[in-house]
Amino acid sequence: QAKSRGRGMLRFFSMEMMGRSKARLTLEAALRQSVERDELRLYYQPQVDLISGEIVGVEALVRWQHAERGLIPPNEFIPLAEESGYVVTLGDWVLRTACRQIKQWAGLGLPLRQVAVNVSAVQLSRGKLVESVKDALQETGIAPGMLELEITESSVMLDRERSLETLASLKALGVQLSIDDFGTGYSSLAYLQQLEVDKLKIDIAFVRDMTTNSNNAAIVKAVIALGHSLGLEIIGEGVETADQARHLRTLRCDIMQGYMVSRPIPGAEMTQFMRTFKPVVIPAGDQRAAG
Ligand code: C2E
Ligand code: MG
Ligand code: MG
Ligand code: MG
Repeated sequence: QAKSRGRGMLRFFSMEMMGRSKARLTLEAALRQSVERDELRLYYQPQVDLISGEIVGVEALVRWQHAERGLIPPNEFIPLAEESGYVVTLGDWVLRTACRQIKQWAGLGLPLRQVAVNVSAVQLSRGKLVESVKDALQETGIAPGMLELEITESSVMLDRERSLETLASLKALGVQLSIDDFGTGYSSLAYLQQLEVDKLKIDIAFVRDMTTNSNNAAIVKAVIALGHSLGLEIIGEGVETADQARHLRTLRCDIMQGYMVSRPIPGAEMTQFMRTFKPVVIPAGDQRAAG
């Protein structure tokens, strides 16, 4: 009896696994056609200078407009695209599309310093990232400094030697570089100062409960001080409240990004947003909380 029950369980698990992998394969097959079927969309989220309140940059964030499932967020398909290697093709599309958008915005005379694009660890290690970036810059003729590449701290740590080389080649093209999700990837100070990056983005997790968790507040404070000592600009991600914005500004953080200013929106909406934008004013709050 125990034996048949065991067999039953085995069957149950393998059926479930097969079902899941089948759904996965179906999604992956559809994903592989997303570029040719024109199903990818870039959304943009503003980045605001904490002193002037002006928009200084925007981050491009990809979504997949799936025929049946609607708009799928990147966390649900980027890992799949990374596994299959399709993220290289997808990443090329993102780069090209972002550069075209930069060209359009520059043509409209919008005062925008940078558009940031996320780069996957797989693009960094496997793809011909430097070539792709060069191609996208050449095709659109934009000023290279208007393009910023965001590379996660954990992905540069995967292959330190190679990351150093790749980042140096990218920097030589004139693009801006930032380290995304900083604070989650255990990079050392010695390594960090060798990287030719311009900005650090403090991970959302630290900003989120910075105002209530003193450990996270201490981490944010230390990252800002460390970054500044290395000559880097610091962006706080995931800023949702005036309290968080004020706290970051008190700690001399340079730039904020988050729902407080805007959620990510399509390019045409972002054009409108920038045209009608008034500098963000962070209301003065409880001074005791700011220290
Ligand atoms: P990320 O690069 O760290 O982007 C920040 C994420 O936080 C975005 O999620 C953004 O919508 C979200 N966010 C911004 N402000 C707030 C806020 O105030 N509160 C909260 N709760 N969330 C906020 P999204 O767009 O879903 O992207 C998730 C991740 O997917 C990105 O994290 C990035 O790692 C990846 N990703 C997005 N676009 C691309 C892409 O084109 N290529 C690659 N390789 N990865 C991408
Ligand atoms: Mg990012
Ligand atoms: Mg991030
Ligand atoms: Mg992330």
